[in-house]
Amino acid sequence: METANERRVRGRFAPSPSGRMHLGNIYTAVMSWLSVKSRGGEWVLRIEDLDPQRSKREYALMIEDDLHWLGLDWDEGGLEGKGASGPYSQSLRGDIYEEYMRRLEAGGLLYPCRCRRSDIMATQAPHRSDGRVVYAGTCRPRHLGGVAPDDASAEGASMRMFVPDREIGFNDRVYGPVSFNLAEECGDFIIRRADGAWAYQLAVVVDDALMGITEVMRGNDLLLSAAQQIYLFGQLGFEAPEYAHLPLICNSDGQRLSKRDSSMSMEQLRRRHTPEQLLGEIAFMAGILSEPAPVKPADLIPVFHLPLRKCVEDDWIFVAKNVPL
Ligand code: GLU
Repeated sequence: METANERRVRGRFAPSPSGRMHLGNIYTAVMSWLSVKSRGGEWVLRIEDLDPQRSKREYALMIEDDLHWLGLDWDEGGLEGKGASGPYSQSLRGDIYEEYMRRLEAGGLLYPCRCRRSDIMATQAPHRSDGRVVYAGTCRPRHLGGVAPDDASAEGASMRMFVPDREIGFNDRVYGPVSFNLAEECGDFIIRRADGAWAYQLAVVVDDALMGITEVMRGNDLLLSAAQQIYLFGQLGFEAPEYAHLPLICNSDGQRLSKRDSSMSMEQLRRRHTPEQLLGEIAFMAGILSEPAPVKPADLIPVFHLPLRKCVEDDWIFVAKNVPL
């Protein structure tokens, strides 16, 4: 059998088309592209449009246009869906997610849950300081150690996945050894919502597995998700990819960049920079270049290395301090 080291390197960029990209999104895209290309690999563009209310095709088109503008070309995927592992838009992959949900169900790991958000909040004692909700297992059936009947109907309910009370560890390429106990950090998590929408965790794992992804690079807000995903990979009989989580970029107020930081949106950044200038600023910010000189993507491939520990110490990259964007 192939091991992770022997598999062809394949990375992906998986934006949610819910708005124009900002500096943080494009920073992730650049790092992921470089990481893959510096290892001779392929880069897949997957459109994570699971949320029908927030996802818009026009945003997906803008994401593609921004990537092209910067010179980050993908080998597979995108709206056009070139490649053998398509479709590459999650909204078109519902039948595939259904099949894998059935496999988890057959393994006895899923159960229907009728708790509303307000019920879940009411069982939180005390609330976690970061606002994260830990599901208390109210609907967990007896065969999984709970008190709910084993034969509850799934109609109109969400489906949750049982998580074990043990540490799940992995070696992050940026953060080093990391481990989480899912029972303490999030509790049994949603696989399909009550309204029928597929949960991010299932969709990402199924897609990363079926698309042959060997490395996932993304923001450190998804570190805990990596443990959830590794657990899911194992339960579905897939090998998990390598993970590299990047420090998040924040604005001059010290807050994580969001769609509200319009000066850091690609629309504004494109007005103020050429593609080469912006790429130089990003590479400087990441510690790949010692000064923010204009460059083309291919110029960075030989000098790419993962962001220095210095950036990681605070979990943030302060744009205002480091880069005159
Ligand atoms: N779709 C997520 C986002 O746009 C990224 C998820 C991932 O990379 O796993 O933030």
